[in-house]
Amino acid sequence: MQKIVVGNWKMHGEPAMAHPLTLSVADEADRLPPHVEVIICPPATLLSQVATWLIGSNVKMGGQDCHIQGDGAYTGDISAPMLKAAGCSHIIVGHSERRRYHHESNSDVRNKARRVIETGLIPIICIGETQEDRDNGKATETVGQQIRECIPEEAVASNFMLAYEPVWAIGSGKTPTMDDIGQMHAYIVSVTAKQTGLAASQIQILYGGSVKPENARQIMITEGVSGVLVGGASLRADEFCRIMAAAG
Ligand code: PEP
Repeated sequence: MQKIVVGNWKMHGEPAMAHPLTLSVADEADRLPPHVEVIICPPATLLSQVATWLIGSNVKMGGQDCHIQGDGAYTGDISAPMLKAAGCSHIIVGHSERRRYHHESNSDVRNKARRVIETGLIPIICIGETQEDRDNGKATETVGQQIRECIPEEAVASNFMLAYEPVWAIGSGKTPTMDDIGQMHAYIVSVTAKQTGLAASQIQILYGGSVKPENARQIMITEGVSGVLVGGASLRADEFCRIMAAAG
């Protein structure tokens, strides 16, 4: 079964750091079996250079966000067609940091995901409950609503993926138990299947939140987990390569 490893560099990196990191990832990817797909998501300033460094490699490149529109007077924003032209195959949408610091709603996320699909790229749609949701017993309610409101009607098998990222696990060093991850992924599959009409086997769901070399294998063999979305550890070549190896 295919396993996907995504590295989200966030607002980190300049060429001196990104070059050796990209080459290490490409090198490790060469050693992996074909069922492992690796995608790195550098900041926009590095995309064209990373694309060059990845020539000849099977590592793919993704954007970290995009605008709802394809082009227009939106100073500072980047569109899905621009990311496609830069060499991206995937775009993360709805990351909790976008929701928190840029006040993105589920409807914004749906519109972004739709634009990504229309552009011919694959949105990685992030969902996940906050600590408060969890404390109030509302984790599944929040995640269910995000699924219903964030997945566009254009979603069909293999043109989108979900990333379940409990907000309290991101960058905190805390992770849910494997039972919790398995149960939430099963719930996400059932709501997504109902929403899209897809079969469970056609729905790809990554787990994200404090994935490390030490827990990557256990997370990736958990029922319903198609791969991992990695933040902090994706900036350290040795850690990210060990996570990639755990998918093999
Ligand atoms: C993320 O930001 O998507 C993430 C999962 O971060 P970290 O791996 O650092 O928790």
